[in-house]
Amino acid sequence: MESKQNHGSPKLFHTITFGCQMNLNDSERLAGQLRTIGYEITENMEQADIILINTCCVRESAEKKIYGKIGELKRLKLVNPNLIIGVVGCMAQKDKDKILKKFPHVNLVMGTHNTHQLVELIAKLEESREPVLAVWDQAQRLAPDVPTVRKGKISAWVPIMYGCNNFCTYCIVPYVRGRERSRPLEHIINEIQQLGQDGFKEITLLGQNVNSYGKDSEEQVDFADLLRAADQVDTIARIRYMTSHPRDMNDKVIETIKNSKRICEHFHLPVQAGSDAILEGMNRGYATRYYRQLVAKIRQAVPGASLTTDLIVGFPGETEDQFQETLEFLKTVRYDAAYTFIYSQRSGTPAARYPDQVPLPTKKARLNQLMTVQNEISLAINEQLVGKSMEVLVEGPSKNDDNTLMGRTRTNKIVLWPKKGQEQAGDLVHIQIDTAQTWVLKGRLI
Ligand code: SAM
Ligand code: SF4
Repeated sequence: MESKQNHGSPKLFHTITFGCQMNLNDSERLAGQLRTIGYEITENMEQADIILINTCCVRESAEKKIYGKIGELKRLKLVNPNLIIGVVGCMAQKDKDKILKKFPHVNLVMGTHNTHQLVELIAKLEESREPVLAVWDQAQRLAPDVPTVRKGKISAWVPIMYGCNNFCTYCIVPYVRGRERSRPLEHIINEIQQLGQDGFKEITLLGQNVNSYGKDSEEQVDFADLLRAADQVDTIARIRYMTSHPRDMNDKVIETIKNSKRICEHFHLPVQAGSDAILEGMNRGYATRYYRQLVAKIRQAVPGASLTTDLIVGFPGETEDQFQETLEFLKTVRYDAAYTFIYSQRSGTPAARYPDQVPLPTKKARLNQLMTVQNEISLAINEQLVGKSMEVLVEGPSKNDDNTLMGRTRTNKIVLWPKKGQEQAGDLVHIQIDTAQTWVLKGRLI
């Protein structure tokens, strides 16, 4: 197949990414590979020679949106028959050839275990017009590292492991991302050092369950060892990580964070539910009593740390009383913020086969109640910060106003303030907090 632009101007690609940070980082690695064969990023889909849709299938709502998007792209294919359209990532892994059958305008379906093969798959496609399906059932022990083109200049994601072994009964991730594979410590530290040299100030270590880092590897290292090694990279100002599984968060990690310089005082510990019966049905591997003790330990070791969580409402069989237990749990643990989801039936997971699915209107009503309670708590916690001075990493102008700057505290709270002088993206500044809202703090540079 001939590219439409081979007269000196670069060939262009566009990525559309759905889902989590892991997917956003995967898209950066797709971009890195395409750059090695002369493709440049375009924000304008209409100009692209390649469009890649990086997909998510954690909830049905995401899947519906993505199928809609794939359908829409047919229009561009009619205008430019040489356009390569690729569907990659989690949904590609799950639905495989079904995607090619349903959408004949798609050229490439590439699963999560094949991401590193993009260059050879594009070469294959440029040679012939035949659709390419590259979906391995299993991952290689460790896929090779590939080049990355980062979206940001201040904060960067660093994957430390791929896959998940937990099989929470509601979750599709272990089926589409495979078993846990930890990257070698040396590769991770080299990547962080390079990021520091390139001027990045903040890194986020990524994995589905970062606390089980190293368990699958021959190296005698664990997550605390990795954190300690990362904390030595002195060109980086802040280290974050996600996601922690509460069951695997241990004293060694808490101690390491307490004694570190760069690891931020923010714990994201997805609890999912505040009822022991539901937690058992979810196969989370902990009960509320254990979780409360863990939170107490963290708060004692790292005073002032923020705590956030994920919660699912309407898990099969969730009674009104069990939902009330979750509300009560929220009121007593008092999270800084919670990401709340309606349970979504994922075919192939055990919970999808449970008989007592909760009706959608009940799930929606519970979500609303949960959000109302959490919003009040978030606001009350943020109001306690009014009058305080907080260290903020400047990210850049706010979305709506070039004269307002946006940054985050070490506790991961968003702060807005009027631009005063020379503050630049990447600077650490001190902001005096004047007002608090549920999701944002506002203040002034001091
Ligand atoms: N590995 C991480 C963990 O265990 O917390 C996060 C993975 S998952 C992509 C992110 C969040 O999506 C989960 O914490 C959970 O709250 C939510 N989630 C996963 N499967 C879901 C489902 N079937 N329905 C609704 N929410 C779901
Ligand atoms: Fe899904 Fe549970 Fe693994 Fe998180 S830990 S990715 S929720 S199976």
